[in-house]
Amino acid sequence: MQLPGPTNIPDAVLRAIAEPTIDHRGEQFASILRSVLRDLRPLFGTVLPVAVFPGSGTGGWEAALVNTLSPGDRVLLLETGFFAAGWAEHARRLGLEVEVVETGWRGPADPGALRAALVADTGAEIKAVLVVHNETSTGTTSDIGALRAAIDEVGHEALLLVDAVSSLGSMPVRHDEWRADVTITASQKGLMLPPGLALLAVSDRARAAGESACLPRAYWDWVPMLDAAETGSTPYTPATNLIVGLRTALDRLAGEGLPAVFARHRRLADAVRAAAMHWELELVCADPAAMSDSVTAFLLPPDVPDPGVRRALLERFGVTFGGGLGRLAGRCLRVGHLGDIDEMMIVGALTALELGLPEFMPIRPGGVDAAIAALGGAKCC
Ligand code: PLP
Repeated sequence: MQLPGPTNIPDAVLRAIAEPTIDHRGEQFASILRSVLRDLRPLFGTVLPVAVFPGSGTGGWEAALVNTLSPGDRVLLLETGFFAAGWAEHARRLGLEVEVVETGWRGPADPGALRAALVADTGAEIKAVLVVHNETSTGTTSDIGALRAAIDEVGHEALLLVDAVSSLGSMPVRHDEWRADVTITASQKGLMLPPGLALLAVSDRARAAGESACLPRAYWDWVPMLDAAETGSTPYTPATNLIVGLRTALDRLAGEGLPAVFARHRRLADAVRAAAMHWELELVCADPAAMSDSVTAFLLPPDVPDPGVRRALLERFGVTFGGGLGRLAGRCLRVGHLGDIDEMMIVGALTALELGLPEFMPIRPGGVDAAIAALGGAKCC
């Protein structure tokens, strides 16, 4: 699996999930849940409570919106790709008014464009700024610190809602330092679990906004979920086995050490980029400083649609790559390099590409050697 999520699941995590389901109202589960909610905090870069819902990343989007906003509220969405556009659509369907700042799908969110949009909002109508930290459809990471600085410069009061679905666990997320109000992730990416959990860090300001926000909320009400850090209990049946699996995944990340985890992702991303550049493939992300450490997307020639390439790579080599989404549908190949992944897996996946791509398009041979050279001197993980 070389998808940018769901990702490969370590055997130890699979074994933990396969344990018999335990009583979600018993003391054993309460203690596991409390420990998981505590140990998630460093991954979010927060000292504040984290909420875990049974759900997916899309549920996390919804929880962030319904707990902080009211019908008709205006939000500003920085559109960097398919997932950002999807969040905008989700917000519209919930009855919010969405202003979109589009800076193209080839680069990160632009702090200057954000600043200009906020300066133009003389009536302070924008209640929240929505941004995807790592745009999985294009392989682009936005600089949330710079976006925060743009909001501060203008002195705007909007909440900052951050989608960290394909960055958390693979690269630093700094909820507190960014003064993000909500940071959202899901289980099936850097956390190395199957799909099924939506996880959110919530600032005190966002919690306070929730007291007067009146979009309808029931399932996604975060108050009892945030209280679970103390109570160890949830208002309805949690995804018991996934939370037990998360305990093991967190132990694994802590065992490696977060700085080492992030360094491994950077090293593997550098290797993928070295191969792609050697092959003379054009990356979707045109800004070298914003190229993602968890996913690389490269453009295919117009006469080579991605479904055929992906099918051939799966059939010949047993490797699953991601394809293009939204306006990039059919036009790119995405290589996920996040979660439980190491040098050997990346070199194997790149070898599949070097062997398989020439059937569809010319590439300059030697990309795998370039990747190995990029890994040179790196310690094996
Ligand atoms: N946001 C980002 C950046 C994503 O990559 C995804 C899914 O891949 C989502 C949101 C939606 O998450 P889900 O498919 O778990 O609902």
